Amino acid sequence: MANKSYEEAIVALQNLLSEKGELGPVAAERIEQITAELQPSSKTFDPVQRIKCGFTYFKTEIYDKHPELFEKLKKGQEPKFLVFACSDSRVSPSHVLNFQPGEAFMVRNIANMVPPYDKLRYSGVGAVIEYAVLHLKVENILVIGHSTCGGIQALMKLPEDGSESTEFIENWMKIGLPAKAKVVAKYPDKSFEEQCKYCEKEAVNVSLANLVSYPFVRDGLVNKTLALRGGYYDFIKGEFKLWGLHLDLSPPCSI
Ligand SMILES: [Zn+2]
Repeated sequence: MANKSYEEAIVALQNLLSEKGELGPVAAERIEQITAELQPSSKTFDPVQRIKCGFTYFKTEIYDKHPELFEKLKKGQEPKFLVFACSDSRVSPSHVLNFQPGEAFMVRNIANMVPPYDKLRYSGVGAVIEYAVLHLKVENILVIGHSTCGGIQALMKLPEDGSESTEFIENWMKIGLPAKAKVVAKYPDKSFEEQCKYCEKEAVNVSLANLVSYPFVRDGLVNKTLALRGGYYDFIKGEFKLWGLHLDLSPPCSI
């Protein structure tokens, strides 16, 4: 690979992909080889091997050891939770809250935002909430914020004039503008880092409020079949805070 440029490798890959008919084993192997060569750290990290090892571990240590659980899950799922968490690789609720297969229906996106009810702009999120609440009949919706969230930093850095320099990120983070406005008004003299910390929690409250804009969520709250909670995972301190949504937000409790 030493004499080949990145562009040449891409062209080679495209040529292989554009070949008509089935990709023979040789071509498939070549694609794998080129893809591996494009990975700068391929000498020390093999993604295919990592995926294979990961599944082998899951199959032998979890799937094969809990046949009763996986037999039950073959018939369907009855999760008690719908969880919103950040896409950040450090905050998976399956690890942080030890959710097992079948326990939590999950949405992960930049800064764990729940957008307001909007059939045109946010149908992906709306579909998840609708399915979880109306069909799976989850009893709890939990929105989890976290420490040093890059999405929240992007929100706090949004230009006042509304201009955007990213394709998607800033537009998505505008969902959290009410949280930013509240933090800036309440803590104008705090440092940027401290304002972000407040905003990480306040954005969860904005998401909880946005959840109420979905008619089926509102119905669930009125009928007391659904509870909304906010959470905050601080991976610097190793702490998790939890609070409920009432008409007035209850004070947080530490776990
Ligand atoms: Zn985040």
